[in-house]
Amino acid sequence: MAAIRRIAVYCGASNTVPAAYLQAASEVGRTLAEHTIGVVFGGGHVGLMGRLADGALEAGGEVIGVIPERLKDRELAHPGCTEMIVVETMRQRKEQMEQRADAFVALPGGLGTLDEIFEVATLQQLDYHSKPLGFLNLNGYYDHLESFFDRAVADRFLSPTQRAAFSFRDNFPSLLEELRAHE
Ligand code: AMP
Repeated sequence: MAAIRRIAVYCGASNTVPAAYLQAASEVGRTLAEHTIGVVFGGGHVGLMGRLADGALEAGGEVIGVIPERLKDRELAHPGCTEMIVVETMRQRKEQMEQRADAFVALPGGLGTLDEIFEVATLQQLDYHSKPLGFLNLNGYYDHLESFFDRAVADRFLSPTQRAAFSFRDNFPSLLEELRAHE
């Protein structure tokens, strides 16, 4: 596994979540910048996405946004990114984010976040790539998902090895360390 130079961070686009999530996203951005790790994200200036990018940019980090043309207004394409890649479709967005990152992280989010992290997890399981991934389980947000994966192992829909690919950590420095153990 190569060194982690960029991490794709998937996270919620909602602005109305509790403030602690928005604050945490900003801290994740700053921490990545401090480790000289670039951020690849959905390019919007809304919700955790926007705060993640702001946090990284304020700390001098590299931030690459990938946004579909038709979402530029709806998700308020972030004006300050190091690079903004405008694509046509949601599939192209996922593909670009996957290709440009060396690891993947899901912060709390909704359907979009889950869709994105599940896609990279599925591709990893099928050996399309071997990049590490993990969930930042802030405030116990992903507790039920973690239990669900244990159930999936118990019922043998998921092997223990596949289950081990899903790292859950309640703080970002620890998750980053876990991802870097794969370098
Ligand atoms: P959410 O977690 O639902 O707040 O969505 C987070 C981000 O994921 C938003 O920028 C959505 O536009 C994006 N998103 C939702 N579905 C997809 C998809 N199928 N492919 C790529 N991005 C998506």
